[in-house]
Amino acid sequence: PVSESFDIAVIGAGPAGAVAAALLLRQGFSVCVLEKQHFPRFVIGESLLPHCMEFLDEAGFLPALHAEPSFQHKNGAAFTWRDRYTHFDFTDKFSAGPGTTFQVRRDRFDHILIREAAKQGADVRFGCEVCAFDNTGEHARLNVLPEHGAAYALTARFVLDASGYGRVLPRLLDLDTPSALPVREAHFTHIDDHITAADFDRDKILISTHSTRRDVWLWLIPFADGRSSIGVVGLPERFIGQDSETALKNAVANVPMLQRILADAVWDNGVPFRRIGGYSANVKALHGKHFALLGNAAEFLDPVFSSGVTIAMHSAKLAADLLGKHLRGKAADWQREFAEPLMVGVETFRTYVNGWYDGRFQDVIYAPSRNADISRMIASVLAGYAWDTENPFVDKAERRLNALAQMVGRQDGD
Ligand code: FAD
Repeated sequence: PVSESFDIAVIGAGPAGAVAAALLLRQGFSVCVLEKQHFPRFVIGESLLPHCMEFLDEAGFLPALHAEPSFQHKNGAAFTWRDRYTHFDFTDKFSAGPGTTFQVRRDRFDHILIREAAKQGADVRFGCEVCAFDNTGEHARLNVLPEHGAAYALTARFVLDASGYGRVLPRLLDLDTPSALPVREAHFTHIDDHITAADFDRDKILISTHSTRRDVWLWLIPFADGRSSIGVVGLPERFIGQDSETALKNAVANVPMLQRILADAVWDNGVPFRRIGGYSANVKALHGKHFALLGNAAEFLDPVFSSGVTIAMHSAKLAADLLGKHLRGKAADWQREFAEPLMVGVETFRTYVNGWYDGRFQDVIYAPSRNADISRMIASVLAGYAWDTENPFVDKAERRLNALAQMVGRQDGD
């Protein structure tokens, strides 16, 4: 085809792209979503946070999600270290908003979202890779390389880059800048968990801390069909000479609770062991002429608090609202109305991610007792309400975390 034209072109059909597309369609704009792969496709990131339900609701996606039987109801986060076990209940939290969400296979979840966006009117093109971007003209111009057929140009009044780990515009526009977080890696797979232990709560993600290396941790994310996602995260030097299967099984053997509840688990079920590394990323700017960056295409911190999809959808919502104003010719300040508000939540999560790895937040989590009000404030952050500045653990995150860590003292696990 010759040059085609849309109000908005979205690069990438993951959660950020699907939510942005739906919210913009609802405002009456024409939206084209360009996706390099074919769905369903694998992507990691299976535990959602309740805050993202607000965006899924507004996008009209919830009925389709509730109909998928493998999605696991989730109402909190549990933590274990040595013989300690504690949990946060997301339905008993400081901030207003939903208190439950899902744990999902991302191939199914992402496929449902983009299918719903297409039903709502998005022109979704799979097998179409965006390989060039030109913002020198009155409209943005993308070069699209379809899997079959010739490359073509597409123009849009505005481009949202939701390409996740593809980081299309940061690469093309040289916006990449190193993350301040050290380069960690994850080894993971899916198992038939066969968990019957009465003290295991299937409605919560279980985060485990390695008994002696507190910067190494594991996730256990149960689904509703007897399967679980399991993974270990740490610095590469923690896994030297180990393939992903060995790294993961060694880590599980180190955690008493996991060893016990997974005694009957079936690992060898045809699902590969996978590795991903160097995933933390940052950018010099979140927006520029005719474009803005969403979700993982912008900044990705760390998987420990399952914040990735929620941040991605929060960025999609902020961008869709502002883009509505922008395309209707009203004043739109992308720094003040998009980048700065988005960073409020990102900075909150950054504080707790740093506090997790340097031990302060783990000391708070694993302390033998906890004040109920403080639990509710922390539960809010862990449920994704990291933008609620009414919450002192958001507004003064660093100060509150330091004070609390000092009060509980260093936990030695004995
Ligand atoms: P993605 O979901 O990555 O989608 C981007 C899409 O863009 C892809 O489909 C890709 O094919 C497409 N694309 C790429 N390049 C191009 C191109 N040139 N042209 C067209 N299309 C293109 N998050 C959570 O919320 N919960 C978790 O439990 C969690 N666990 C994680 C565990 C690990 C080990 C890691 C590394 C991350 C985890 N995350 C988690 C983060 C999560 O993976 C991401 O934050 C989330 O997928 C971001 O969504 P997105 O829409 O920005 O991008």
